[in-house]
Order: sequence, then C-alpha cells, then structure tokens
Amino acid sequence: MRLLLACLLATIPAALTAGPVDEPSRLPEEWQARVRPLLEQVVEVPSVPGRGKVPKVAELLAGALRAAGFPAASIAIRPYMAGEGDSTAALIVRWTSAAPRRRPILILGHMDVVEARREDWERDPFAFVEEGGYFYGRGTLDMKAQLVAITIALAKLKAEGFAPDRDIIVFFTGDEETAQNGALLGSTDWRGTLDAEFALNADAWGGTFDAAGRPLGFVIGAAEKTYQTYFVTVRNRGGHSMRPRPDNAIYELAEALRKIQAHRFEPQLNEVTRAYFQSRQQDEAGALGDAMRAWLADPGNGAAADMIEASELETGMTRTRCVATMLEGGHADNALPQMARAAVNCRIMPGVEPAAIRAELQALVGPGAEVTPDPSFIGTPTPVSPLREDVLAAYAAAVRRIHGEAIRITPVMDIGTTDGSFFRAAGIPTYNVDGTWLVVPEDERAHGRDERIPVRAAFDDVLHWEMMLRALAGKP
Ligand SMILES: [Zn+2]
Repeated sequence: MRLLLACLLATIPAALTAGPVDEPSRLPEEWQARVRPLLEQVVEVPSVPGRGKVPKVAELLAGALRAAGFPAASIAIRPYMAGEGDSTAALIVRWTSAAPRRRPILILGHMDVVEARREDWERDPFAFVEEGGYFYGRGTLDMKAQLVAITIALAKLKAEGFAPDRDIIVFFTGDEETAQNGALLGSTDWRGTLDAEFALNADAWGGTFDAAGRPLGFVIGAAEKTYQTYFVTVRNRGGHSMRPRPDNAIYELAEALRKIQAHRFEPQLNEVTRAYFQSRQQDEAGALGDAMRAWLADPGNGAAADMIEASELETGMTRTRCVATMLEGGHADNALPQMARAAVNCRIMPGVEPAAIRAELQALVGPGAEVTPDPSFIGTPTPVSPLREDVLAAYAAAVRRIHGEAIRITPVMDIGTTDGSFFRAAGIPTYNVDGTWLVVPEDERAHGRDERIPVRAAFDDVLHWEMMLRALAGKP
C-alpha cells in the first residue's frame, strides 16, 4: 500500500457510540494457534526489494495450503522480474468449485515488504516478536498478517467442508511496493488464469479505533486515484551570465510553476466519494459540514468543493491534484541556463485520462514550457468500482459480527495506489475489504519503524475472510 487511509479516518468521530458487543465472534484458539507460527515464519523472511526472498514467502504459504488439503496442482508459484536484476514471484491458488454457479472471485495481496534497517528499529525488524498485545516485525501490518489470515481462512473453510459455488482465486504479487509488474502481468498476460467477476483486495486495513478502544469506523475502498508524474521543461539557447537576457529558462519555469500552483482542477463527485461525503457530513455540524451538504446537493457548487478541499483531512478528495516535487536546471553558476525542469506529481481522479491532464497543464503553462509524462511510469485511468450490494453486505456483516452492530462503514476513494488499480483498469471491479484494524495514531507504522499489528486484529482477520467468503462464494 502506498498511502494510508488512516489519515482520513483518524478524526472521524465515533458518532454512533458502540455499546457492549453481544458475544462478538472470536477466532477459536485452535485456529489462533495456527496463525502465530505461520506469521512468524513469513515475517522472518526479509522479502524486501532486491534480495530475491519473495519466493520463500510464497513457498511458506503454499506449504500451509497443501497441508490444509489443497491439491498441489491448484497452487502455482510464478517467478517474474520486478525490475532489472530483481527476481520475485507471484503465488496463484485456485480453489475450484465442483459446481460453479457464478464467475470466480479474485483475492489480491502482496508478499513483498518495504526495506527496514536494524539501526532504525527498536528491535530486529525481521525477528517476529509478540509483546503487549502486538505482533511486531516488518510487514506485520503491510501486509503479511493479511496473507496469513487469508491462508488460514481458506484452511479453516476447507476443514469445515465448505464447498464454494464459484472458483476462489488467490493472487499474491511480489513487487507491489516497487514496480507492480506482478499486478501488470496479472491483469494482462495472466488475465486468462485470473479472470473474475470482481476482486477483493486485502492491501490496506479496514478499521480504526482510538486509544480508549472506541471504534472510529471501518472503510471499504472502491476507487483509486491514478498516479502520474509530468516533467515541465523549459529550454533556452543559454549564454554567458554576464549578459543576462529577458528570456531565461529558470525564470520561465518559475512562472510556469506559479500557474500550476494557482490552478484548480474541476471538482468531480463520483459514486464512491458521494457515499463517502454522505457519511462524513453526519460528523460535521459546522461550516465544513455545510460545505459537504451544499456540494452533495449541487455538484456544480465549486465554492463548496473548494472549501472541502481546503480542509487538510479531505485534501485530494474533490478533484485531481498536482504538485511540484522536484527541480533541476542549469549547468554552471556563471552560465545562462539551457534547460530547467520540474517534476509535477499528479493524483488524477478515477476515470480521467492522464493525457487529458497533460493537455490541461500544457494549455496552462503555454508554449514556452513543454509538459511530458514521466516515461518510466504511465498511469492507467481506473474507473470507480460500482458499490455492489453483495460485497458491501458481506463486508458489513463480517465487520459487525466481530465488532458490533453500531460500527459505521464508509466507502472511500483511496488517494494513493495499490495493485487493485491494475485490475480496475482491466475491467475487474476491485474492493479493498480487509478486516484488520489498528489504533490510531499509535499503530500507523506501515513502511515505518517498529511496525506492528494488534494480535487480536490478526486473529479477527481470519474470521473476517472466512465470513466474507462464506457470504460471497457460498450457496445463497
Ligand atoms: Zn501494502
């Protein structure tokens, strides 16, 4: 996962105060006992970019599934390259329905983790530790606990004689944090193997609680913005700096960037952000809530959208946003610059072509500067996944069985990017529906130091996936 949703959730108050949960569902101890050792094994494999260890994680998960009775022929580890010299692998598991009545479901996750250095951490990041109600180690939160939860949920369903009425396909990639070639291959070359009616993405946790244990809510992700960097380049014939001229690449670039800074893209409301703001406005009695209500009532009300966008919590939720992130130019301190260039990183609204944003930026800066997309990553626009009733209902039922009826569940648009965007782009609606949760802000440590997950969240997630799959692949 590239960007955290939790920042959006941190201040969503628990407007609906959860009462004591009546007999909340808990993972039986015999299954808890199977989570711990598998999680320990996979966390202790440093499946970071460049070390070639991802296949080891895949082997551990595959081994657990074979031991649970999944035939070896239904499990495949496919090696591929994450980048030059960086070999990795994907795990593909297919639970074939004996009597399929519907098209398959695809479950997405990733086995790679972000690098972690021993000297930055309190403990060895690749030594699994249980302490004070937490599992510690790189990847516990992003997202090895989720890989294990799905694996153990499948084992539990198998042990309990569950017979899916559609194929369940698991696809875990090995380079989500870097090249995302696995997701690219999965959505293109391997599409035939992975084709599904919709996908359930386990990357990104679902729920947040405050330090007092009060639930702040769960989210279901159904849309992602598109990532695209552009270069804004100004070229000039240059010359000696003792003879300045009005034309100057650095000054002209600065002017172009000023225009980009002042520019506001057209606000856009889609099915997911509409549902999100309908939920959010309930918490906001003041001016921000009034702006949300005004915008929902009239999506043409740009002033209301501007006010929402100006709130730090909602930044990026109303429109495409672009910002200057890097700068280079000139070749000597006593020469007129022949070139000046800035990188401008854009997060584009779902469904909008990066080429259209390029054209808008080019028109804005004028012919003196050239706007080109970063050739090393061309974003693909992704449509909003329709808010399917079956997926929403299965998710809500699982969350409420574990956490109580009063939990609020909100659809969200992720302003970052996951592997899910490749599948949405390929026409497979994708939903971020994981059941893990954390305490904010203390546990927001994905990609950071001393990453951890509450022990109970790791166990809850097994039940969550079991219930989701019973609901979505069981006989209705
Ligand atoms: Zn992730």
